[in-house]
Amino acid sequence: MSTVRIGVLKERADRRVTVLAPSGVERLKSQAQILVQRDAGRSAGFTNEAYEAAGAKLVDSAEEVMDGSDILLSYDHHYEGAAITGNKTFIGTFNFLWTPENVGRYLHSGITVFSLDLIPRSTLAQAMDVLSSVGSISGYQAVLLAAERSLATVPMITSAGGTLRPAKFLVMGAGVAGLQAIATARRLGAVVKAYDVRAASKEEVESLGATFIEVEGAVDDSKGTGYASQQSEEFLKKIRDRIHEEASKSDVVITTARVPGRKAPLLLTEEMVNGMKPGAVVVDIAAATGGNCALTQPDKTVMHNEVTILGPTSIECSCAHSTSFLLSNNYVAFIEYLLKHKEKLAEDQILRSTLVVQDGKSVNERILALHGAAN
Ligand code: NAD
Repeated sequence: MSTVRIGVLKERADRRVTVLAPSGVERLKSQAQILVQRDAGRSAGFTNEAYEAAGAKLVDSAEEVMDGSDILLSYDHHYEGAAITGNKTFIGTFNFLWTPENVGRYLHSGITVFSLDLIPRSTLAQAMDVLSSVGSISGYQAVLLAAERSLATVPMITSAGGTLRPAKFLVMGAGVAGLQAIATARRLGAVVKAYDVRAASKEEVESLGATFIEVEGAVDDSKGTGYASQQSEEFLKKIRDRIHEEASKSDVVITTARVPGRKAPLLLTEEMVNGMKPGAVVVDIAAATGGNCALTQPDKTVMHNEVTILGPTSIECSCAHSTSFLLSNNYVAFIEYLLKHKEKLAEDQILRSTLVVQDGKSVNERILALHGAAN
């Protein structure tokens, strides 16, 4: 049996991350030949020499990587839909749930696509969970960004000039990113309140030393998927009143709420921002999927009545080394799993959940159920 050839593509300049670190090459090299596009890891802090020392072969262009590989690894899209020869498997974090139109470019004979953001949230798949990796770094970075933009210090500081009170943070959405934001803000000494539609997150929020904001009438995750369900208008109105009150007292609001495949819920209206203190900061890390704040503009800084609103769409990329290290471990775990179970693709839940295109055909049940076959 011939050895599988795995290629690592260099991401666009503003992405900064890579999905295979030299430590990932070390792990895979007994099962695969690994081609790495020169400088693929450089902006994440991994040198070409480190890849070579780990056992990878460097090539200069994306074309050489594509031509010389059976499996192509990337974070974002690189393939634009040109003709290919032979079979190619693309593995990425393509977020098709929100951009189903991108499936179309892969619908050519010989192409198979796995998108790792579709990994099931199960114990078995935990090591491959790119959303958790990205969420953790995003939550952490959001707090640092807010602290840097805030006009006030975060911890209580006592000095000769008097005592500075601790900052008040409000975190909306207490999934992976929200919980990491809470933990980071608490470590910096902030007083934190948080809320999520999932009642299960109350205990997690409280265990991190934050106060959980409770509002009755939420539709909880009855299907046990771990994801939030879409909420009724009546509930959203109730929560808006409560959030209005909490936001007006906060120095920082961090929003992370998402519903897979849907526009992010609007949690912070313009009226609420009008009620916030001058100098307050909003970091909306749901910006890439529509934003939780009405005034968010993707990747822009909006000043509204002296409230700063930031809407970073790829905040994880600013901490590129750590993000890449985590992604690399996730991708390696997935590749090892794929190589071991590929003959049972049709029955395997992890592979079936992440498989989006199989030999040029759109096959993912979740994407098809949400968006139909018109992608
Ligand atoms: P996500 O990024 O899809 O959403 C972020 C948070 O926003 C979620 O907690 C969600 O409940 C919340 N949210 C959605 N709509 C909201 C609204 N209107 N108001 C307030 N909050 C709202 O979620 P995620 O961080 O990827 O995590 C989703 C779930 O998966 C969580 O339960 C998490 O614990 C679970 N999870 C499980 C595993 C595993 O078992 N391996 C791994 C990671 C995460």
